Amino acid sequence: MTEQVKPERKGALVTGSSRGIGRAIALSLAESGMNVCVNCSSERSLPAAQELAAQISATYGVKSLALVANVASAEEAQTLVESAHVAFGRLDVLVNNAGITRDGLVARMKEEDFDAVIDVNLKGTFNCCKAATKIMMKQRSGRIVNMSSVVGVSGNAGQANYAASKAGVIGITKSLSCELAPRNVTVNAVAPGFIETDMTDALSDKQREAISSRIACGRLGQPEDVANLVKFLASDEAGYITGQVICIDGGMAL
Ligand code: NAP
Repeated sequence: MTEQVKPERKGALVTGSSRGIGRAIALSLAESGMNVCVNCSSERSLPAAQELAAQISATYGVKSLALVANVASAEEAQTLVESAHVAFGRLDVLVNNAGITRDGLVARMKEEDFDAVIDVNLKGTFNCCKAATKIMMKQRSGRIVNMSSVVGVSGNAGQANYAASKAGVIGITKSLSCELAPRNVTVNAVAPGFIETDMTDALSDKQREAISSRIACGRLGQPEDVANLVKFLASDEAGYITGQVICIDGGMAL
């Protein structure tokens, strides 16, 4: 039997990449020559995801497709990961970026708001990691980058659910990095500070100024700032970095 030749071009999946940080990461990985699968949570965002996939193919000459999947569902996450693998013939990079907030003080936080944030941010990361792990272990190579937050490291008033989910992401990252290092698969977490996206759009000018005053760089971050870091962690050059949490916050004091 002749051995199957693996396609040369690497394949990447970025969850929650219809907009914001995920979108910038998808563009950045495509720019580095990877085929990229774009993902969003619902049919409502599919046109934006499809537009991005078309832009990626036209600009960088790589394959790109857009798939709807709710990462909080184990079944949908598995189908998503398998579909990206089948489309590209390999899966080299998984970026678990999909995330939501449902802020509120603990005393007033609804159980459903706690559960929704844990389900998407933490369980969604677990679901996709689990599905990709099987493929990457067999492949004996891979890069997983999980999106945490500085809030997962330090905590933040009004974000107990979000902080718990992002601290949990760090726990998954460190544990899985130990499991996968012998198979040449690295697992790292990125912990952004305040990045200008829809997620931080609700901030008033006053809040924005107050936040900026606590950032040594004197400005909020841009999605591209985070994408540059993720692109490096996803590269061959980052092969000796695993189990790490890298803050990207412009030098912020919470
Ligand atoms: P965003 O602009 O609100 O975009 C969120 C993305 O996640 C969208 O593409 C959204 O898809 C997707 N998504 C949400 N729920 C999903 C689900 N159940 N399944 C699949 N996709 C889902 O957020 P962002 O600011 O770019 O944040 C991206 C990540 O960085 C998140 O994990 C966030 O917690 C983290 N982060 C952000 C900041 C910041 O300041 N912005 C700071 C630290 C960490 P739809 O379009 O379908 O809704």
